[in-house]
Amino acid sequence: MITAVVGTNWGDEGKGRMVDLLANKYDVVVRYQGGNNAGHTVINDRGEFILNLLPSGILRDETVNVMGPGMVIDIEHLTGEIGRLREKGIEITPDHLKISDRAIICMPYHKLLDCLEEDRLGKNSYGSTRRGISPVYSDKYMKKAFRMGDLFDMNALKERMEGIIEWKNLTVKNGYGSEALTPEANISWLEKFGLPLLNYVCDTTEYLTDAVNAGKSVMFEAQLGALRDIDFGIYPFTSASSTISAYAPIGAGIPHIKLDETIGIMKAYSSCVGAGPFTCELFGKEGDELREAGGEYGAATGRPRRVGGFDIPASKYGAMIQGADCIALTKMDVLSYFDKIPVCTKYSVDGVETDKFMVGSKLDRAKPVYEYVDGWKTDISSCRNFEDLPENAQKYVKYIENAIGCKVKYISVGPDRDAYIEM
Ligand code: GDP
Repeated sequence: MITAVVGTNWGDEGKGRMVDLLANKYDVVVRYQGGNNAGHTVINDRGEFILNLLPSGILRDETVNVMGPGMVIDIEHLTGEIGRLREKGIEITPDHLKISDRAIICMPYHKLLDCLEEDRLGKNSYGSTRRGISPVYSDKYMKKAFRMGDLFDMNALKERMEGIIEWKNLTVKNGYGSEALTPEANISWLEKFGLPLLNYVCDTTEYLTDAVNAGKSVMFEAQLGALRDIDFGIYPFTSASSTISAYAPIGAGIPHIKLDETIGIMKAYSSCVGAGPFTCELFGKEGDELREAGGEYGAATGRPRRVGGFDIPASKYGAMIQGADCIALTKMDVLSYFDKIPVCTKYSVDGVETDKFMVGSKLDRAKPVYEYVDGWKTDISSCRNFEDLPENAQKYVKYIENAIGCKVKYISVGPDRDAYIEM
Protein backbone atom coordinates (compact mmCIF):
# COMPACT_ATOMS: atom_id res chain seq x y z
CA MET A 1 0.00 0.00 0.00
CA ILE A 2 1.38 3.39 -1.02
CA THR A 3 -0.47 6.24 0.69
CA ALA A 4 -0.06 10.00 0.80
CA VAL A 5 -1.28 11.88 3.88
CA VAL A 6 -1.74 15.50 2.92
CA GLY A 7 -3.35 18.72 4.16
CA THR A 8 -6.39 20.08 2.34
CA ASN A 9 -6.37 23.55 3.90
CA TRP A 10 -3.76 26.13 4.95
CA GLY A 11 -1.67 23.69 7.02
CA ASP A 12 -1.89 22.80 10.72
CA GLU A 13 -4.74 20.41 10.01
CA GLY A 14 -3.28 17.83 12.39
CA LYS A 15 -1.25 15.84 9.86
CA GLY A 16 1.41 14.97 12.45
CA ARG A 17 -1.22 13.52 14.76
CA MET A 18 -2.82 11.46 11.95
CA VAL A 19 0.51 10.21 10.56
CA ASP A 20 1.54 9.14 14.07
CA LEU A 21 -1.77 7.28 14.38
CA LEU A 22 -1.70 5.66 10.94
CA ALA A 23 2.03 4.92 10.91
CA ASN A 24 1.56 1.52 12.53
CA LYS A 25 -0.06 0.34 9.28
CA TYR A 26 3.07 1.25 7.27
CA ASP A 27 6.63 -0.02 7.17
CA VAL A 28 8.07 3.28 5.99
CA VAL A 29 7.11 6.96 6.47
CA VAL A 30 8.64 9.55 4.10
CA ARG A 31 8.65 13.35 4.42
CA TYR A 32 8.75 14.61 0.85
CA GLN A 33 8.99 18.41 0.89
CA GLY A 34 9.61 21.49 3.00
CA GLY A 35 11.93 22.03 5.91
CA ASN A 36 11.75 23.10 9.53
CA ASN A 37 9.09 25.67 8.74
CA ALA A 38 6.76 22.75 9.49
CA GLY A 39 5.68 22.02 13.03
CA HIS A 40 3.86 18.78 13.73
CA THR A 41 2.67 18.21 17.27
CA VAL A 42 2.42 14.57 18.28
CA ILE A 43 1.10 13.42 21.65
CA ASN A 44 1.32 9.74 22.55
CA ASP A 45 2.19 7.46 25.46
CA ARG A 46 5.86 8.55 25.23
CA GLY A 47 5.07 12.24 25.75
CA GLU A 48 4.46 15.36 23.71
CA PHE A 49 6.73 16.07 20.77
CA ILE A 50 7.08 18.85 18.24
CA LEU A 51 8.64 17.57 15.04
CA ASN A 52 9.87 20.07 12.48
CA LEU A 53 12.04 17.99 10.17
CA LEU A 54 11.78 14.38 11.29
CA PRO A 55 8.95 12.33 9.76
CA SER A 56 6.12 11.70 12.24
CA GLY A 57 6.72 7.94 12.15
CA ILE A 58 9.92 8.53 14.14
CA LEU A 59 8.09 7.85 17.41
CA ARG A 60 7.36 4.27 16.41
CA ASP A 61 10.35 1.94 16.80
CA GLU A 62 9.29 -0.42 14.03
CA THR A 63 8.81 2.29 11.37
CA VAL A 64 11.62 3.32 9.02
CA ASN A 65 11.62 7.08 8.43
CA VAL A 66 12.94 8.72 5.30
CA MET A 67 13.71 12.37 4.58
CA GLY A 68 13.28 12.66 0.83
CA PRO A 69 15.14 14.62 -1.88
CA GLY A 70 12.28 17.15 -2.02
CA MET A 71 13.20 18.37 1.46
CA VAL A 72 15.45 21.25 2.54
CA ILE A 73 17.31 20.38 5.73
CA ASP A 74 18.78 22.76 8.28
CA ILE A 75 21.30 20.31 9.73
CA GLU A 76 21.83 22.35 12.90
CA HIS A 77 18.10 22.22 13.58
CA LEU A 78 17.97 18.50 12.77
CA THR A 79 20.84 17.84 15.20
CA GLY A 80 18.82 19.65 17.90
CA GLU A 81 15.67 17.70 17.08
CA ILE A 82 17.48 14.34 17.27
CA GLY A 83 19.09 15.50 20.55
CA ARG A 84 15.73 16.42 22.08
CA LEU A 85 14.37 12.96 21.28
CA ARG A 86 17.49 11.40 22.80
CA GLU A 87 16.85 13.36 26.02
CA LYS A 88 13.44 11.67 26.18
CA GLY A 89 15.04 8.25 25.72
CA ILE A 90 14.42 7.86 21.98
CA GLU A 91 17.60 6.94 20.15
CA ILE A 92 17.58 7.47 16.38
CA THR A 93 19.63 4.84 14.56
CA PRO A 94 20.51 4.66 10.85
CA ASP A 95 18.04 1.75 10.59
CA HIS A 96 15.32 4.05 11.86
CA LEU A 97 16.17 7.20 9.88
CA LYS A 98 17.45 7.55 6.34
CA ILE A 99 18.26 10.94 4.82
CA SER A 100 18.38 11.28 1.05
CA ASP A 101 21.78 12.14 -0.37
CA ARG A 102 19.83 14.35 -2.82
CA ALA A 103 18.10 16.45 -0.10
CA ILE A 104 19.19 20.08 -0.04
CA ILE A 105 21.03 21.65 2.90
CA CYS A 106 19.50 24.84 4.30
CA MET A 107 22.53 26.99 5.17
CA PRO A 108 22.77 29.73 7.84
CA TYR A 109 22.86 32.35 5.05
CA HIS A 110 19.47 31.16 3.80
CA LYS A 111 18.01 31.93 7.21
CA LEU A 112 19.85 35.25 7.24
CA LEU A 113 18.52 36.20 3.81
CA ASP A 114 14.98 35.26 4.85
CA CYS A 115 15.25 37.62 7.86
CA LEU A 116 16.94 40.43 5.90
CA GLU A 117 14.20 40.42 3.29
CA GLU A 118 11.31 40.18 5.77
CA ASP A 119 12.84 43.08 7.73
CA ARG A 120 13.29 45.11 4.55
CA LEU A 121 9.63 44.54 3.65
CA GLY A 122 8.49 45.64 7.10
CA LYS A 123 4.71 45.80 7.25
CA ASN A 124 4.50 44.26 3.78
CA SER A 125 6.41 41.14 4.84
CA TYR A 126 5.19 37.69 3.78
CA GLY A 127 4.94 36.43 7.33
CA SER A 128 7.70 33.93 6.61
CA THR A 129 8.81 31.57 9.38
CA ARG A 130 12.27 33.15 8.77
CA ARG A 131 13.83 29.71 8.58
CA GLY A 132 15.38 30.19 5.17
CA ILE A 133 12.96 28.06 3.20
CA SER A 134 12.28 30.36 0.23
CA PRO A 135 15.96 31.37 -0.18
CA VAL A 136 17.14 27.77 -0.10
CA TYR A 137 14.55 26.56 -2.63
CA SER A 138 15.53 29.53 -4.84
CA ASP A 139 19.16 28.40 -4.69
CA LYS A 140 18.11 24.84 -5.49
CA TYR A 141 16.55 26.04 -8.75
CA MET A 142 19.54 28.35 -9.38
CA LYS A 143 21.58 25.13 -9.06
CA LYS A 144 23.73 26.77 -6.39
CA ALA A 145 22.72 24.70 -3.36
CA PHE A 146 24.53 21.93 -1.49
CA ARG A 147 23.08 18.46 -1.13
CA MET A 148 23.45 16.09 1.81
CA GLY A 149 25.52 13.72 -0.35
CA ASP A 150 28.06 16.52 -1.00
CA LEU A 151 29.21 16.08 2.61
CA PHE A 152 30.90 12.82 1.59
CA ASP A 153 33.49 14.80 -0.40
CA MET A 154 34.47 17.83 1.67
CA ASN A 155 37.33 18.76 -0.69
CA ALA A 156 35.01 19.18 -3.65
CA LEU A 157 32.51 20.97 -1.43
CA LYS A 158 35.16 23.46 -0.22
CA GLU A 159 36.05 24.31 -3.81
CA ARG A 160 32.42 25.03 -4.69
CA MET A 161 31.89 27.01 -1.49
CA GLU A 162 34.33 29.74 -2.56
CA GLY A 163 32.30 30.64 -5.65
CA ILE A 164 28.95 30.36 -3.90
CA ILE A 165 29.96 32.66 -1.04
CA GLU A 166 31.33 35.18 -3.54
CA TRP A 167 27.93 35.10 -5.27
CA LYS A 168 25.98 35.28 -1.99
CA ASN A 169 27.93 38.32 -0.85
CA LEU A 170 26.66 40.22 -3.87
CA THR A 171 23.32 40.18 -2.07
CA VAL A 172 24.17 39.84 1.61
CA LYS A 173 26.99 42.41 1.71
CA ASN A 174 26.58 44.58 -1.38
CA GLY A 175 22.78 44.48 -1.47
CA TYR A 176 21.57 44.40 2.14
CA GLY A 177 24.77 45.93 3.59
CA SER A 178 25.07 43.06 6.05
CA GLU A 179 28.37 41.62 7.30
CA ALA A 180 30.21 39.61 4.61
CA LEU A 181 29.90 35.83 4.67
CA THR A 182 33.05 33.73 4.68
CA PRO A 183 33.66 30.30 3.16
CA GLU A 184 35.51 29.21 6.32
CA ALA A 185 32.59 29.86 8.68
CA ASN A 186 30.21 27.98 6.41
CA ILE A 187 32.59 25.04 5.99
CA SER A 188 33.06 24.69 9.74
CA TRP A 189 29.28 24.84 10.23
CA LEU A 190 28.89 22.00 7.71
CA GLU A 191 31.63 20.00 9.40
CA LYS A 192 30.17 20.52 12.85
CA PHE A 193 26.55 19.66 12.06
CA GLY A 194 26.76 17.72 8.79
CA LEU A 195 29.50 15.16 9.31
CA PRO A 196 27.92 13.56 12.42
CA LEU A 197 24.74 12.99 10.37
CA LEU A 198 26.50 11.11 7.56
CA ASN A 199 25.58 7.72 9.06
CA TYR A 200 21.99 8.48 8.13
CA VAL A 201 22.68 9.70 4.58
CA CYS A 202 22.16 7.22 1.75
CA ASP A 203 20.58 6.74 -1.64
CA THR A 204 16.98 6.62 -0.41
CA THR A 205 15.70 6.15 -3.96
CA GLU A 206 17.44 2.79 -4.04
CA TYR A 207 16.27 1.97 -0.51
CA LEU A 208 12.62 2.85 -1.23
CA THR A 209 12.56 1.11 -4.61
CA ASP A 210 13.79 -2.10 -2.97
CA ALA A 211 11.31 -1.66 -0.12
CA VAL A 212 8.35 -1.25 -2.50
CA ASN A 213 9.51 -4.17 -4.65
CA ALA A 214 9.69 -6.30 -1.50
CA GLY A 215 6.02 -5.47 -0.82
CA LYS A 216 6.60 -2.97 1.99
CA SER A 217 3.95 -0.33 2.59
CA VAL A 218 4.94 3.32 2.38
CA MET A 219 3.30 6.49 3.65
CA PHE A 220 4.21 9.90 2.28
CA GLU A 221 3.83 12.68 4.81
CA ALA A 222 3.21 16.22 3.58
CA GLN A 223 4.01 19.50 5.18
CA LEU A 224 1.47 22.36 5.10
CA GLY A 225 -1.73 22.18 3.06
CA ALA A 226 -3.05 22.43 -0.51
CA LEU A 227 -3.61 26.18 -0.22
CA ARG A 228 0.10 26.68 0.52
CA ASP A 229 1.26 24.80 -2.57
CA ILE A 230 3.65 26.90 -4.64
CA ASP A 231 1.64 26.34 -7.84
CA PHE A 232 -1.94 25.78 -6.67
CA GLY A 233 -2.07 27.76 -3.45
CA ILE A 234 -2.59 31.41 -2.52
CA TYR A 235 0.61 32.56 -4.25
CA PRO A 236 2.68 34.50 -3.15
CA PHE A 237 1.51 33.59 0.38
CA THR A 238 2.42 29.98 -0.24
CA SER A 239 5.27 27.81 0.82
CA ALA A 240 8.20 27.52 -1.59
CA SER A 241 7.58 23.84 -2.33
CA SER A 242 4.89 21.49 -3.53
CA THR A 243 2.51 20.31 -0.82
CA ILE A 244 0.28 18.17 -3.02
CA SER A 245 -0.01 14.40 -3.22
CA ALA A 246 0.91 14.23 -6.91
CA TYR A 247 4.35 15.54 -5.99
CA ALA A 248 4.82 13.00 -3.17
CA PRO A 249 6.50 10.25 -5.21
CA ILE A 250 8.88 12.81 -6.74
CA GLY A 251 9.75 14.53 -3.48
CA ALA A 252 10.16 11.16 -1.82
CA GLY A 253 12.57 10.10 -4.54
CA ILE A 254 10.53 7.36 -6.21
CA PRO A 255 8.79 9.08 -9.14
CA HIS A 256 8.22 5.70 -10.80
CA ILE A 257 5.92 4.51 -7.99
CA LYS A 258 2.18 5.22 -8.14
CA LEU A 259 -0.01 6.16 -5.19
CA ASP A 260 -2.75 3.74 -4.10
CA GLU A 261 -4.51 6.17 -1.79
CA THR A 262 -4.53 9.82 -0.73
CA ILE A 263 -5.89 10.72 2.70
CA GLY A 264 -6.78 14.41 2.97
CA ILE A 265 -6.45 15.86 6.46
CA MET A 266 -9.16 18.48 6.91
CA LYS A 267 -9.87 20.54 9.97
CA ALA A 268 -13.48 20.86 11.21
CA TYR A 269 -12.95 24.65 11.13
CA SER A 270 -10.25 26.87 9.55
CA SER A 271 -6.92 28.28 10.66
CA CYS A 272 -4.14 30.10 8.87
CA VAL A 273 -0.71 31.34 9.94
CA GLY A 274 0.77 34.53 8.53
CA ALA A 275 -0.38 36.95 5.87
CA GLY A 276 -2.49 36.40 2.76
CA PRO A 277 -6.14 36.03 1.80
CA PHE A 278 -8.18 34.06 4.36
CA THR A 279 -11.75 34.75 3.35
CA CYS A 280 -13.52 32.88 6.16
CA GLU A 281 -11.61 34.73 8.92
CA LEU A 282 -13.55 35.43 12.13
CA PHE A 283 -12.59 38.50 14.15
CA GLY A 284 -13.17 39.89 17.64
CA LYS A 285 -14.77 37.76 20.33
CA GLU A 286 -15.91 35.08 17.86
CA GLY A 287 -12.34 34.63 16.58
CA ASP A 288 -10.70 34.82 20.02
CA GLU A 289 -13.00 32.13 21.44
CA LEU A 290 -12.31 29.74 18.57
CA ARG A 291 -8.55 30.39 18.76
CA GLU A 292 -8.54 29.62 22.49
CA ALA A 293 -10.78 26.56 22.14
CA GLY A 294 -8.55 25.13 19.41
CA GLY A 295 -5.23 26.20 20.99
CA GLU A 296 -4.39 27.83 17.66
CA TYR A 297 -0.82 28.99 18.17
CA GLY A 298 1.91 27.98 15.68
CA ALA A 299 3.87 24.84 16.60
CA ALA A 300 6.96 26.14 14.74
CA THR A 301 6.80 29.81 15.80
CA GLY A 302 4.22 30.19 18.63
CA ARG A 303 2.43 32.84 16.56
CA PRO A 304 -1.35 33.17 17.13
CA ARG A 305 -3.13 31.69 14.13
CA ARG A 306 -5.97 33.41 12.31
CA VAL A 307 -9.15 31.34 12.60
CA GLY A 308 -12.47 30.97 10.81
CA GLY A 309 -15.39 28.61 10.38
CA PHE A 310 -15.20 25.60 8.07
CA ASP A 311 -14.63 27.03 4.59
CA ILE A 312 -16.51 25.04 1.95
CA PRO A 313 -15.06 26.67 -1.23
CA ALA A 314 -11.48 26.37 0.06
CA SER A 315 -11.86 22.84 1.48
CA LYS A 316 -13.60 21.52 -1.64
CA TYR A 317 -10.82 22.95 -3.80
CA GLY A 318 -8.15 21.58 -1.43
CA ALA A 319 -9.64 18.08 -1.53
CA MET A 320 -9.83 18.23 -5.34
CA ILE A 321 -6.25 19.46 -5.83
CA GLN A 322 -5.03 16.75 -3.48
CA GLY A 323 -7.02 14.05 -5.28
CA ALA A 324 -8.24 13.00 -1.83
CA ASP A 325 -9.84 9.55 -1.79
CA CYS A 326 -11.08 10.10 1.74
CA ILE A 327 -10.91 12.67 4.52
CA ALA A 328 -9.66 12.60 8.09
CA LEU A 329 -11.70 15.33 9.80
CA THR A 330 -9.74 16.68 12.75
CA LYS A 331 -10.46 18.77 15.84
CA MET A 332 -14.21 18.07 15.83
CA ASP A 333 -14.13 18.27 19.65
CA VAL A 334 -13.10 21.94 19.46
CA LEU A 335 -16.53 22.85 18.06
CA SER A 336 -18.39 21.43 21.06
CA TYR A 337 -18.81 24.84 22.71
CA PHE A 338 -20.91 26.38 19.92
CA ASP A 339 -24.70 26.78 20.07
CA LYS A 340 -24.63 27.45 16.35
CA ILE A 341 -21.53 26.55 14.34
CA PRO A 342 -20.43 29.10 11.73
CA VAL A 343 -19.74 27.66 8.26
CA CYS A 344 -18.50 29.70 5.32
CA THR A 345 -20.59 28.21 2.51
CA LYS A 346 -19.76 30.60 -0.33
CA TYR A 347 -17.69 33.59 -1.31
CA SER A 348 -19.19 36.81 -2.54
CA VAL A 349 -17.04 38.51 -5.17
CA ASP A 350 -18.11 41.87 -6.56
CA GLY A 351 -21.68 41.09 -5.49
CA VAL A 352 -21.75 37.62 -7.10
CA GLU A 353 -21.94 34.55 -4.88
CA THR A 354 -19.94 31.45 -5.76
CA ASP A 355 -18.89 28.21 -4.08
CA LYS A 356 -15.77 28.06 -6.28
CA PHE A 357 -12.34 28.83 -4.88
CA MET A 358 -10.31 31.28 -6.92
CA VAL A 359 -6.86 32.81 -6.88
CA GLY A 360 -5.42 36.27 -7.46
CA SER A 361 -7.11 39.63 -6.92
CA LYS A 362 -10.61 38.08 -7.03
CA LEU A 363 -9.72 36.11 -3.91
CA ASP A 364 -8.44 39.29 -2.27
CA ARG A 365 -11.86 40.88 -2.84
CA ALA A 366 -13.89 37.83 -1.77
CA LYS A 367 -16.18 38.21 1.25
CA PRO A 368 -17.45 35.20 3.21
CA VAL A 369 -21.07 34.12 3.13
CA TYR A 370 -21.76 32.50 6.50
CA GLU A 371 -24.45 30.05 7.53
CA TYR A 372 -24.97 28.67 11.01
CA VAL A 373 -25.65 25.00 11.68
CA ASP A 374 -26.84 23.50 14.97
CA GLY A 375 -24.14 22.63 17.48
CA TRP A 376 -24.13 19.69 19.92
CA LYS A 377 -22.91 21.34 23.13
CA THR A 378 -21.55 18.09 24.61
CA ASP A 379 -18.02 16.85 25.12
CA ILE A 380 -17.36 14.35 22.32
CA SER A 381 -13.71 13.61 23.13
CA SER A 382 -14.47 10.14 24.49
CA CYS A 383 -16.61 9.04 21.51
CA ARG A 384 -15.01 6.14 19.61
CA ASN A 385 -17.85 5.17 17.25
CA PHE A 386 -19.82 7.33 14.86
CA GLU A 387 -23.03 6.25 16.63
CA ASP A 388 -21.63 7.58 19.95
CA LEU A 389 -21.59 11.13 18.53
CA PRO A 390 -24.59 13.35 19.30
CA GLU A 391 -27.04 13.61 16.42
CA ASN A 392 -25.98 17.14 15.47
CA ALA A 393 -22.30 16.12 15.36
CA GLN A 394 -23.22 13.24 13.03
CA LYS A 395 -25.17 15.72 10.91
CA TYR A 396 -22.16 18.07 10.79
CA VAL A 397 -19.95 15.28 9.41
CA LYS A 398 -22.54 14.36 6.77
CA TYR A 399 -23.00 18.04 5.90
CA ILE A 400 -19.25 18.37 5.25
CA GLU A 401 -19.15 15.15 3.21
CA ASN A 402 -21.95 16.44 1.01
CA ALA A 403 -20.45 19.89 0.64
CA ILE A 404 -17.01 18.71 -0.45
CA GLY A 405 -18.02 15.54 -2.26
CA CYS A 406 -15.64 13.23 -0.44
CA LYS A 407 -16.15 10.57 2.26
CA VAL A 408 -14.92 11.11 5.80
CA LYS A 409 -13.00 8.00 6.91
CA TYR A 410 -11.58 9.22 10.24
CA ILE A 411 -12.85 11.74 12.77
CA SER A 412 -10.36 13.03 15.30
CA VAL A 413 -11.93 14.09 18.59
CA GLY A 414 -8.80 14.92 20.60
CA PRO A 415 -5.03 15.28 20.33
CA ASP A 416 -4.23 11.89 21.91
CA ARG A 417 -3.35 8.94 19.72
CA ASP A 418 -6.52 6.96 20.50
CA ALA A 419 -8.97 9.91 20.36
CA TYR A 420 -10.52 9.11 17.01
CA ILE A 421 -13.39 7.40 15.22
CA GLU A 422 -12.88 5.22 12.16
CA MET A 423 -15.93 5.10 9.91
P1 GDP B 1 0.11 19.67 11.52
O1 GDP B 1 1.22 20.60 11.18
O2 GDP B 1 -0.88 19.51 10.41
O3 GDP B 1 0.58 18.37 12.06
O4 GDP B 1 -0.73 20.35 12.68
P2 GDP B 1 -0.19 21.02 14.03
O5 GDP B 1 0.55 20.02 14.82
O6 GDP B 1 0.44 22.32 13.76
O7 GDP B 1 -1.58 21.39 14.72
C1 GDP B 1 -2.43 20.46 15.14
C2 GDP B 1 -2.65 20.69 16.65
O8 GDP B 1 -3.91 20.20 17.00
C3 GDP B 1 -1.67 19.95 17.52
O9 GDP B 1 -1.46 20.67 18.70
C4 GDP B 1 -2.39 18.64 17.83
O10 GDP B 1 -2.00 18.03 19.06
C5 GDP B 1 -3.80 19.12 17.91
N1 GDP B 1 -4.80 18.16 17.47
C6 GDP B 1 -4.75 17.31 16.42
N2 GDP B 1 -5.92 16.68 16.28
C7 GDP B 1 -6.73 17.15 17.27
C8 GDP B 1 -8.09 16.91 17.61
O11 GDP B 1 -8.82 16.13 17.00
N3 GDP B 1 -8.59 17.62 18.69
C9 GDP B 1 -7.85 18.51 19.39
N4 GDP B 1 -8.43 19.15 20.40
N5 GDP B 1 -6.58 18.77 19.07
C10 GDP B 1 -6.02 18.09 18.02
